[in-house]
Parts: sequence; structure tokens; C-alpha cells
Amino acid sequence: MTWANNLDVDAVLISHDHIDHIGGVAELAEDVPLYCTPLVAKALPPNRAWHPLPERGSLAVEGIIVTTGQAGHSLGGVWLHLAVGGGIFYSGDACFESRLFPFDTPPPARIALLDASYGSYDQPQAYCVQAISERLDQPLAFPVPETGRALEMALWLAEEADRRQLTLAIDPVIRDNLAALLALPATLRRPVLDHSIRLLLARQNACPPTLQLMCDRNDTPAQWPNHHLLHTGYLTPDRRAQLAAGEISWQRWNVHLRASHLVALADQLGVTQVVPLFTRFSDNELNAWQGLLGDRLCTAQRFSTHSRLVTFPV
Ligand SMILES: [Zn+2]
Repeated sequence: MTWANNLDVDAVLISHDHIDHIGGVAELAEDVPLYCTPLVAKALPPNRAWHPLPERGSLAVEGIIVTTGQAGHSLGGVWLHLAVGGGIFYSGDACFESRLFPFDTPPPARIALLDASYGSYDQPQAYCVQAISERLDQPLAFPVPETGRALEMALWLAEEADRRQLTLAIDPVIRDNLAALLALPATLRRPVLDHSIRLLLARQNACPPTLQLMCDRNDTPAQWPNHHLLHTGYLTPDRRAQLAAGEISWQRWNVHLRASHLVALADQLGVTQVVPLFTRFSDNELNAWQGLLGDRLCTAQRFSTHSRLVTFPV
């Protein structure tokens, strides 16, 4: 039994290639039409048929106009807007604060399903970056998702390494993804960065480096005897135990909407209902969301629009 058993859907739209958003495709029937951007399609199971979504634009899917825009979160990642029921907006994972990935202003919507991964957390990215920079006086290894914050952290670490005269190595997969970003139309990345990206791609990896940015391959402290592991995102239960034991460190690098940005997005969309996604509602969090969103807060798992039924995870 999987999530895809007895699934009655016309099509599946994928926002981006992180495992918690694309991993379930392996269980999806082959005959269900699948839509994603070309860069995201690289992460699909081999030979899985797919239809292209634009990085920024519109197309008709099963008679519904679907509009996409840059979500500010990852290489090839988009938000989705469906022109049905007064407009339904799905942010996928989204962020306003990326130094590399732009966030496009979406069209108005009546219902918004928004990335609430951070709950009511609202710390600005400048604070996070400052906190990480204060730890750069020791050999550090950063395991990161290779299509997401890896790319912007690579640029930032290169600046910091130059400023402090530290040596740096960046995983070849992350370099390839930066090259893929550079190959996209310039409007799909923040302006004035192309020169920095080219310099980074031309830079040799130090061996051994003081600072190491690598793709997250479930690295353990034992695999890095000469570096301290600094995590910047979600921690698995194993890693939470490592953190509690002082074996690793953690400092968030913002890659999701923080609370005030989620509210700003809801305001901008002009929505009447907001469903916070990817979060659990403890009593405290529920109170916080009610304070932030008022009557717009929606915690139902299912509701219908004029023409279609909408189901979503909460
Ligand atoms: Zn993601």
C-alpha cells in the first residue's frame, strides 16, 4: 500500500527535485501524466515520461491554465498557480531571501497552499549568515542538498574564504549545478552574479581544504575526522542525537518562507484561505498561525472549488 494506490488524478505537477517533493514519483502509475521543469526532470526515475513545465510562464493542463514562476528555493524549482476556483496558489518550497534564486510575484489567488516548514520562526537570513560566519575559524564541512542552498552557499563560502585566506573545496556535483544555473536565461537568477559564478567555477579545489562544501550523502562525524560537520537544514533523528552529543553543529541557512514572508505572500495574493504546509500544528503553533493569518487560516485537509476537488497534505 502506498500513497499512490487508488489515486484518482488527472495529472501530477512537481514543484522541485528535493526528495520529499519528488521521491513519491517512484510509486506513481506510469500512465499518470507528470509535469515538471527540464532541470527537475533529471531527478525522475529512469525512463519516466514527463511533460515540460516552463520555469516562468503558462500552459494548459487537463483544461486548466497552470502558471509557474521562480520559487527562490532551488535549481529548476517553481511555484504553481492554477486558474480554477478564483485561483489556487501552491508555493512548493519557497523563499524570499535567496541571494541566487529569484522569487517571482505570483498572480492573485483565492486559496494559497504555502510553505510553512519553519512554523512561526522569523529570523532574517542576515542573522543566520552572521552566525555561520562566526564559526569559520575552524575546519568545517557543510553537507547540503545539491540543487538548493548548496549553490548560494558555494558563492558565499568563496567570498568568505578569500576574505579570511582560508582554503576551500566544493563538490563537483555542486559545481555542475552552478554551471547549469549559469546556462539558463539570465532572468532565472539574481542579477550581477554571473562573474562570481564564473570565478568560482574556475577556482581549483584545495586539498586538503579548511572549508568543504559537499553534497549530503548521510555523512557521519566519523567520516570527517579532520573537520567539524556544520548542518544548516533539516536534521534527521540520528543527527539530532549527534547534535545533542556535541558531535556536530547546526545553524539554519534560510531556504523556506519565514513567518512574516508567508504572511506578506498571503497579503500579496489577496487570498481568503491559507493552508500552511509541511508543518505540524502544536497548540502553540496553531495559536501563532491564528495570530498571523486570522480568519484566513485553514487547517482542513480537503475542500472543493467550483469545478474540482482539491486535496493536499498538512
Ligand atoms: Zn526543497
